[in-house]
Amino acid sequence: MSTAEIIDGKAFAAKLRERIAVKVAELKESHGITPGLAVVLVGEDPASSVYVRNKAKQTKEAGMASFEHRLGAATSQADLLALVAQLNEDPQVNGILVQLPLPPQIDDQAVIDAIDPAKDVDGFHVINAGRLMTGTRGASAPLVPCTPLGCLLLLRDRLGDLSGKNAVVVGRSNIVGKPMAQLLLGDSCTVTIAHSRTQDLPGLCRSADILVAAVGRPEMVRGDWVKPGATVIDVGINRIEGEAGPDGKAKGRLVGDVATAEAMETAGAITPVPGGVGPMTIACLLANCLTATHRQAGLPEPGL
Ligand code: NDP
Repeated sequence: MSTAEIIDGKAFAAKLRERIAVKVAELKESHGITPGLAVVLVGEDPASSVYVRNKAKQTKEAGMASFEHRLGAATSQADLLALVAQLNEDPQVNGILVQLPLPPQIDDQAVIDAIDPAKDVDGFHVINAGRLMTGTRGASAPLVPCTPLGCLLLLRDRLGDLSGKNAVVVGRSNIVGKPMAQLLLGDSCTVTIAHSRTQDLPGLCRSADILVAAVGRPEMVRGDWVKPGATVIDVGINRIEGEAGPDGKAKGRLVGDVATAEAMETAGAITPVPGGVGPMTIACLLANCLTATHRQAGLPEPGL
């Protein structure tokens, strides 16, 4: 029997985007400022191309200015760094996102390091990572990576105060796992970070009131890894081959890192894939761009 509540990230993200649009309109009205987001795509990766198109669409829908820069796959690192330097100086641009992964001739880290931390809406610059780690607040608070920020907002919405909860984050990437763990620690959870060398991962997961899976392995987290009543956040986006349709062609489908149907038997609440964490990522990107704009203008936080 399925019992878990489905956490509707799609609906939550839509409401967040509405609140952002209201704040953007207020900012224009009261200060004549239009937040601007520059997105840079190098090469023709189809998945990245779709993300960039969606980002531009939602940026404009929120009333922000969208600046798209599509560069050829053979672009040199020097040319990309020159564009980043130009965007750093451009007063119309408040947020800069360089879509990863970059082609092999370009060092991702060198590009991330070159972005002005105040405009680093992905939150990947070491200054922002360090500020997240040290719990810096106020005017020099970090810009936080969008996917874990989205997960945190969903968790707070579902659970309210997170303090004292046992949280297990499976995955230790700089993009998801590590910042997720820092955010949960910031909300006073007791946090364990698991990875490919963790022993007895199922047993560890069963200790979690909050279980975040950010692994990239289809349905790895099974139903009997979930503590009864736990809140499960499935960050994974994995495309797998589906059954053949009437035309005989197999259609791919998206699954998460959690075996959702099984986990629903024991979890208290769970994010679906698709429609859970995914839509929160772009909404939080817009939130970060608005926050960055406020800080650059010396205005109080937008308070989303
Ligand atoms: P990475 O590949 O960078 O990191 C994966 C992590 O999972 C690593 O820390 C790795 O451990 C760990 N891992 C791998 N295999 C196992 C295992 N068998 N047991 C335990 N841990 C394991 O992935 P990302 O963090 O970038 O992404 C994770 C997932 O989230 C992917 O499916 C990705 O598509 C998705 N994603 C979704 C986003 C969204 O918007 N919803 C945004 C970003 C990512 P180790 O370090 O030891 O190798």
